[in-house]
Amino acid sequence: MSHTGKVWIAGAGPGDAELLTLKTEKLLKDADVIIYDALVSAEILGRIPEDKELIFVGKRLGNHAVPQWRINQILVEEAKKGKKVLRLKGGDPFVFGRGGEEAEALREHGILFEVVPGITSAVAALAYAGIPVTHRDYVSSFHVMTGHRGKDGTSRIDYETLAKIGGTLIFLMGLSSLEEICWRLVEAGMKPDTPAAVVSRGTTARQRKVVSDLAGLPGKVQNAGISMPALIVVGDVCRLSEEFEWTKERPLDGRQIVVTRPEENRGDLAERLKEAGAQVIEMPTIRIRPIEENQRLREELNTLRARLKYLPEENEKNREDGIEWLVFTSPTGVRIFFEQLGKWRMDIRQILGGPGKVCIAAIGRATADALGRYGIFDVAVPEKYCAKALGEFIAAQTRKWERYGISPTKWKNAKVEEQEVVPMDVKSRKMAGHVTILRAREGSKELLPPLIEADLEVTDVALYDTVYAAKSDLSARVQSLIERSEIDAVTFTSGSTVRGFVELLRVDDMADHLQDFQAICIGEQTEAEAKAYGMRTVTAPEATIEAMVRTLMELGES
Ligand code: SAH
Repeated sequence: MSHTGKVWIAGAGPGDAELLTLKTEKLLKDADVIIYDALVSAEILGRIPEDKELIFVGKRLGNHAVPQWRINQILVEEAKKGKKVLRLKGGDPFVFGRGGEEAEALREHGILFEVVPGITSAVAALAYAGIPVTHRDYVSSFHVMTGHRGKDGTSRIDYETLAKIGGTLIFLMGLSSLEEICWRLVEAGMKPDTPAAVVSRGTTARQRKVVSDLAGLPGKVQNAGISMPALIVVGDVCRLSEEFEWTKERPLDGRQIVVTRPEENRGDLAERLKEAGAQVIEMPTIRIRPIEENQRLREELNTLRARLKYLPEENEKNREDGIEWLVFTSPTGVRIFFEQLGKWRMDIRQILGGPGKVCIAAIGRATADALGRYGIFDVAVPEKYCAKALGEFIAAQTRKWERYGISPTKWKNAKVEEQEVVPMDVKSRKMAGHVTILRAREGSKELLPPLIEADLEVTDVALYDTVYAAKSDLSARVQSLIERSEIDAVTFTSGSTVRGFVELLRVDDMADHLQDFQAICIGEQTEAEAKAYGMRTVTAPEATIEAMVRTLMELGES
């Protein structure tokens, strides 16, 4: 790249990732490099694609932030490499965000830039604390200033003017000067009982507020042990804070939850939890790697097609000729299967051969729904969504057909009672049918024994590999959140997500922290994996996203 790139100086909002603007959200995907600081939340980091280049310039435990002159330099350097540079800051970039200085530096070097405003904490943190920044009945203006003292230790705030101004007063970066601010306002003539509040970590799961008056606020804040970032607000609108306390009414308010998942499945689960008010960090712990040029799959499908030729039209005699099953165990498998067919331009009708010829089974509802998106609706699903149940289910179906001498299509309407099923003497007859399993390479072994026992011929075809995700800024951030006991729960939807999660966090003393959160597991097998690492587990009563959400809500109530 020889041409010069461009810089977007953008605000990431106050913390809640859904307060990102559409424009910034788009830039998270489009930028080549993202330069961000400490106020950018883990939740937002989780929305950045895994392969994106990230440069952290904020303060890290024990380390100073990168100085402003150096940040300016980095912006210029990266842009000169021809990149699309996203400079991501907390809140709004021009509200005490030093975005102005960065714009100047870019101008100086003739580099193009755009500014993307963000939602400033000055207004949003108040809104989440139930404090409207203005209200007709109380005030007609608001004023935002820094409470930070200058280099010489003196404040540049004109308290006399502020005391007279009558609007809502908002101080950013003022927590350490709280006592001085309150006292100077009173000294300048404001009533000591003027309502005032501190809101910390506004819009996040760890939001706290302390509401009092000018005289009482400093003492109350000290006792409450408030953490940064926090802002101070002074004015009558603080009176409304209790009445307007809407965040607490959300069922999962105050809960920070990590949703582990493969990179590609941005899921329902995260959406549902966010709707319920949780702060959700989406952290990919495994990656799906489709098997390229899957020759094995091609061969198996070709032999399946050959076998189908010998199936009689009406499928009446298929007890003799064998019954064909195609089995899917994940929505990902379904997608990769059809993508692969697409690459070969192989028509699905050739594989299915006509209605009733090939039976299709899915491990659960989500997988069946994925098949529905490709126009396949007649799918058999076991009652319990796990590999063992799926195997037993297919075996039982086969036995029913054997016993009643009916074809799978007819059986569907036959409503055979479970207790009437009598296992066959397997040795005395031919293969009961053929099962082609289409799934991940390291699929659960529990699927196989029931099938083999039922005398079904089994072909297990790998469609993809699941590999652990690489360590990233996000996993480092999540690790430090866990160490500080700020993560309430982590959701796991497969054993591989558990292993991937532990792999990402693997450091010697991390084991001590694996009990610090609730591990919410989709089913027994996943739970067994989590337990093996010593996690505190809870398992959803059914293996569905819905049940996981309910489980989390119930935990919140107890
Ligand atoms: N550009 C940012 C402000 C940067 S100055 C914005 O528009 O929000 C940093 C100060 O902002 C902090 O000291 C604190 O006073 C305030 N702040 C930032 N995020 C906050 C949050 N989530 N809750 C409360 N105050 C916050």
